[in-house]
Amino acid sequence: MSELALETRGLGKRYGRKWALRDCTLELPVGCVAALVGPNGAGKTTLLHLAVGLTAPTAGSVRVLGTSARERPDLVLPRVGFVAQEHPLYRRFRLAEMLKACGRLNDTWDQELALRRLERLRIPLDQRIETLSGGQQAQVALTLALGKRPELLLLDEPVASLDPLARREFLQSLMEAVADGGLTVLLSSHILTDLERVCDYMILLSASQVQLAAPIDDIVGAHRVLSGPRSDVSDVERVHAVVQASHTDRQTTLLVRANGHLYDARWHVDEVGLEEIVLAYLGRSTAYEELAS
Ligand code: ATP
Repeated sequence: MSELALETRGLGKRYGRKWALRDCTLELPVGCVAALVGPNGAGKTTLLHLAVGLTAPTAGSVRVLGTSARERPDLVLPRVGFVAQEHPLYRRFRLAEMLKACGRLNDTWDQELALRRLERLRIPLDQRIETLSGGQQAQVALTLALGKRPELLLLDEPVASLDPLARREFLQSLMEAVADGGLTVLLSSHILTDLERVCDYMILLSASQVQLAAPIDDIVGAHRVLSGPRSDVSDVERVHAVVQASHTDRQTTLLVRANGHLYDARWHVDEVGLEEIVLAYLGRSTAYEELAS
């Protein structure tokens, strides 16, 4: 069995009466580049904070590279790079001072790798962090995390504040780091479009719960759109999972997660893209939330 970069079992976090993350069970194999996708407030940051031990679970367990970060931070944290949403850098520091501090704090620090990246990005070492643009600060935060030579890199909304070009450059440079080998990445975002190109795995969170967690090829391969004359769909529901159903006077359209072979002369079967699948799950969980409230 391959090693797991991240493994959660019934993981939950509650603040007061509200669950920020509930009953989260998933496995992220080593070597994946995974998108952690979900709308605002879905629980993405909560999951990442639980993984690195910044917060304690209310229920269940989480292991990173086989070990709990809260029980053995000494074993886990040197192997993990974490870039928080707000890129908490020492803003008054010059970049060169920041690199020196990283070298002191991390046994595995790769100064050459950090210098090479910053040179390529044309970010001068004598500049104070606070005078860098938002995009440059995001790149610096990624460089500092990569310079640690982590086995698992957790990035919380790294592209949210970037313009489309900077976003593409950022993801490109992340891909180069992955191509260098030995790195698993979990990258949260509420924007799917950019991530689809660079990720091979997706965890979809919505309303504090895991909706999907699987290789993207498997997700796309398992979903189909069925369309046909308006009809009762209970026979389809008995075999397959109906994610979304819509009806007009004459026609019924279903987005289903197929459970085995999908053939019925009644239905026209079409493939469906990842974005449409994600939107269908998000639409469904919103409907559940409305029903529950
Ligand atoms: P975003 O995309 O907006 O960053 P997110 O998916 O990262 O959202 P979280 O930050 O994990 O979502 O928050 C999940 C839920 O938990 C939200 O409803 C949030 O209000 C709540 N929450 C998170 N942290 C706390 C806290 N410290 N105290 C109380 N509630 C919290």
